[in-house]
Amino acid sequence: MSTILVINSGSSSFKYQLIDMDTENAIASGLVERIGESSGHTTHRGPSGTSERTLEIPDHTAGFRAMLDAFAQSGPSLDDDPPIAIGHRVVHGGKRFFEPTIVTPLVELNIEDLSDLAPLHNPANLEGIRAAEKAFPDVPHVAVFDTAFHQTLAPEAYTYAIDAELAERHRVRRYGFHGTSHKYVSEEAARYLGKPLADLKQIVLHLGNGASACAIDGGRSVDTSMGMTPLEGLVMGSRSGDIDPAVLIHLSRRAGLDTDGLDELLNRRSGLVGLAGRGDMRDVTRAAAGGDASAERALATYLHRLKHYIGAYFAVLGGLDVITFTAGVGENSEVVRAGALEGLGALGIRLDPERNAVRSRDPRTISADDSAVTVLVIPTDEELEIARQTQAAIA
Ligand code: AMP
Repeated sequence: MSTILVINSGSSSFKYQLIDMDTENAIASGLVERIGESSGHTTHRGPSGTSERTLEIPDHTAGFRAMLDAFAQSGPSLDDDPPIAIGHRVVHGGKRFFEPTIVTPLVELNIEDLSDLAPLHNPANLEGIRAAEKAFPDVPHVAVFDTAFHQTLAPEAYTYAIDAELAERHRVRRYGFHGTSHKYVSEEAARYLGKPLADLKQIVLHLGNGASACAIDGGRSVDTSMGMTPLEGLVMGSRSGDIDPAVLIHLSRRAGLDTDGLDELLNRRSGLVGLAGRGDMRDVTRAAAGGDASAERALATYLHRLKHYIGAYFAVLGGLDVITFTAGVGENSEVVRAGALEGLGALGIRLDPERNAVRSRDPRTISADDSAVTVLVIPTDEELEIARQTQAAIA
């Protein structure tokens, strides 16, 4: 069996999935969490069920030992059948990394060097890589970057209109994120429709706790709503998305917020949390349906912003064949899908309410038969996409 182990490492936890590349099924998965705290925890799902352990996990290296123990105890055995490669999610690849890349000491240095653009993510991703290399010294490790898919953006799409020399010196430009998901979903959409990817103009709406829109022409990302960091664009669970930059100047002068305070405000106390006091779209739609005014306003603002991007990307693409909803909100909320597309008949976008109401884990069409633009729901699978790209990189 050829398997690939996919690692998504955060600062105090990592998730893993072992994927059989012949069937593309996950045959084991798990979570190692509370690394560095007084008591850590592992959850492992394998062929014989779920096993859990509480133990001290001082660092990521110990976390990988705990993961190997879980495989040894609950299967499948990695000694009998080691993975052919390890695929690592890395959030920021800057402009250096435009494809999945086999990890070398130089690649690690480059990931480290990009940490000032993603201080919460890249150091944690790198810790996972270094610990995994100790656990699997004889297997190739591949870094798959969230930003890579958007390296096809033209300069006019990634440039912020500020002092060009200053921007260049500090690497200020749009990079875009969720690239692994946008790539996977746009390719699955073409496959589902039985049409060549090269012929399709697509908008993918990745609506999860973080959210981004992407305009994709013939399989190439041409615009995306997240920017230098994953803060720009759509209204998210707790992030503001687009905002007049002068608001920050105003708040620092008038409300006494320093840079850490502004960071906290925009990343953790904004979006649905800031408007409605709750970041989960299920709670917001339920409260809005019950007449809660702040939840109604939060939902309306969320939908207005989405519609704004759909119109913008229609123009950027010069036409549109497919809109696809994905991730937690996109896959599950018929209210959000209907609200985002309401009134877009003039653009050739018409939903079928009954199809939109279907709940399923499968890819599906939700547009009406006479809609010029096909509207789809396709569950995203970032782990599988990382495994596919890892396999391609070692081939
Ligand atoms: P993700 O980041 O893709 O895991 O998405 C997580 C988010 O999906 C949660 O914060 C919820 O807001 C949202 N979500 C999950 N199920 C539903 C649902 N049935 N209706 C609306 N939102 C949902």
